[in-house]
Amino acid sequence: MQILLPTDVLNKMRCHMLRAGRREIGGIIMGEEVEDQKFRIVDFSVDCSSGSHSNFVRDAEQHSQALTDFFERTGADYRRYNYLGEWHTHPSYEVQPSLQDLNAMKDLVDGSGGVEFAVLLIARLKWCSQLEFSASLFVRDYEPTPIGLVHEKLIARY
Ligand SMILES: [Zn+2]
Repeated sequence: MQILLPTDVLNKMRCHMLRAGRREIGGIIMGEEVEDQKFRIVDFSVDCSSGSHSNFVRDAEQHSQALTDFFERTGADYRRYNYLGEWHTHPSYEVQPSLQDLNAMKDLVDGSGGVEFAVLLIARLKWCSQLEFSASLFVRDYEPTPIGLVHEKLIARY
């Protein structure tokens, strides 16, 4: 699987991260299936208030509203535009998923919520402008696998 990260989405994330400082922020990521096994991140939600210095747990309700708005905007074309996964920041740590992150993601794809797979994107701002990422794919009954993240130099409008 490959994930495309367009410049405008990247810049928006960077803005939020600059504002949050050393607090962890995050939310859900919404994607477009470009071709088989290739997804573009087209939007994301962000919760700037629940995170602490070393922990982020998202508020489910706030983000499900963001997803509802996204479906409306994209004409309820669920096959093409859908929930892609989760993102949060590790301002003070490496971008590798923590044990808590791994467990939360495994719970998410365990079958109870109807989520078949989910991507976890972890971001870190280095030297105030350079972004570092890790992306992992979680599929029910499988171990998480790292996935390729490609910076896409185009401005996607949705
Ligand atoms: Zn984390």
